This record gives sequence, C-alpha cells and structure tokens, in this order.
Amino acid sequence: MRAIGKLVIFSAPSGAGKTTLVKEILKNEKFRLEFSVSACSREKRANEIHGRDYYFLSVAEFKVKIAENAFVEWEEVYADSYYGTLKSEVEHIRNSGKNVVFDVDVAGGLNIKNQFGDNALSLFIMPPSIEELENRLRNRKSDNEDSIKKRLAKAEFEITFADKFDKIIINDDLQTAVREIQNILDCFLKE
Ligand code: ADP
Ligand code: 5GP
Repeated sequence: MRAIGKLVIFSAPSGAGKTTLVKEILKNEKFRLEFSVSACSREKRANEIHGRDYYFLSVAEFKVKIAENAFVEWEEVYADSYYGTLKSEVEHIRNSGKNVVFDVDVAGGLNIKNQFGDNALSLFIMPPSIEELENRLRNRKSDNEDSIKKRLAKAEFEITFADKFDKIIINDDLQTAVREIQNILDCFLKE
C-alpha cells in the first residue's frame, strides 16, 4: 500500500532546477502526486498558464487573500512579488486521495514542514555551484538582468538553510537527481 495525503516539499534557490525535477517526478504515477498550484503576483511568463503554473493575481488581490486567511503560508519572495500556498489547494488534493507536491521558496518550505511535521518531507535542491546557477538562470531566458541579480543575491543566503531540510539533493546530472528523489519517495510514501 502507498500513502495518501502526504506532502513533498521542493525548495531551492531560483534556477537550481526545482520546476524541472518536479515535472520529472510527477510523471511517475505510482507516487500518486499532484502539484499544489500557488498564487503569485509576479508577471506571467510566456510559457506559463494561469491555473496550471500559478494562479496569477494582482498585488491587491493577493492582499485580499492574506486578509481572508486563505494561505497555509505566503512570502514576499522578491519586492512586490508575493507567493503563497492556498489552503483550498492543499485540502482539495489531500481529499482526492493524492499526495501533494510543493515548489516553494526556502522560507515557505520550512514553514510547511513545521506545520505538517512527519506527514511532510522537505527536499532542498542544491545547484552544483553559484556559477552554474547563474548559467542556468541566463540560459532559461525568462528573467531580465535585474531579476537575475536579485535571484543570485538571494541564493547565497538561501543555501545557508539547506541543512534544516530533511534531505539535500545536488542537481548536477538531472537523471541522477531524479533517481535519488525517486528512491527517497519510495521510502517516504510507503505506508
Ligand atoms: P527553478 O524551478 O529552481 O527556478 P528550473 O527548473 O526552471 O529552476 O531550471 C532552471 C534552468 O536550468 C532551466 O533552463 C532548466 O532547463 C535547467 N536545468 C535544470 N536542471 C538542470 C540540470 N541538472 N542540468 C542542467 N540544466 C538544468
Ligand atoms: P518563480 O518566480 O521562479 O516561479 O519562483 C520564485 C520563487 O518563489 C521560487 O523559489 C519558488 O519556489 C517560490 N514559490 C513559488 N510558489 C510559492 C509559494 O506558494 N510560497 C512560497 N513561499 N514560495 C513560492
């Protein structure tokens, strides 16, 4: 038997490869995983879809949801860019008999782990180096220079929290990282 209603948290500095890894892991149906779509107030990127990648809200709309206590956690990840995990999203996935996957920043990941304890597994995705992180952010071509600088500055700080997570995964070779995560999930999601 496999567990249901458990939470798997992916946190990392932006550009380390969380989104890529999460997509790979979601392909493995045996884990019964569903992605928790967050709300956020940044601009939508060209390849993103409202409701699939994020619920894109204005800053004002996001603040209304904060006031309504609609979030499990939320952070102003970058100035005026709010991101938050919706309670409704987590409840819906757990009630449908699935396990929940989160792609959240480091503070958000630690916050969710604190609230859900042993029902949650927190994974820190580590880039092989800051230089490689910068390469990945540039090659992704989704952020302007200012945004890349902000993300790199924040990355060095975020990496200092890595040892507070249940596991650290070094995302150097993608397939090696995927296999490592699958082995960890095989264990965590066994009832
Ligand atoms: P995040 O979600 O953490 O911000 P992404 O998944 O968007 O990061 O990855 C950032 C960029 O790095 C993307 O262009 C992605 O294709 C690339 N990437 C991810 N993992 C690897 C890897 N192991 N080796 C090389 N490039 C990678
Ligand atoms: P991006 O703009 O690259 O999609 O995401 C920027 C950062 O916000 C990433 O570290 C991502 O994991 C984080 N993030 C996405 N959703 C949430 C959320 O719901 N809560 C928190 N705390 N961070 C989030």
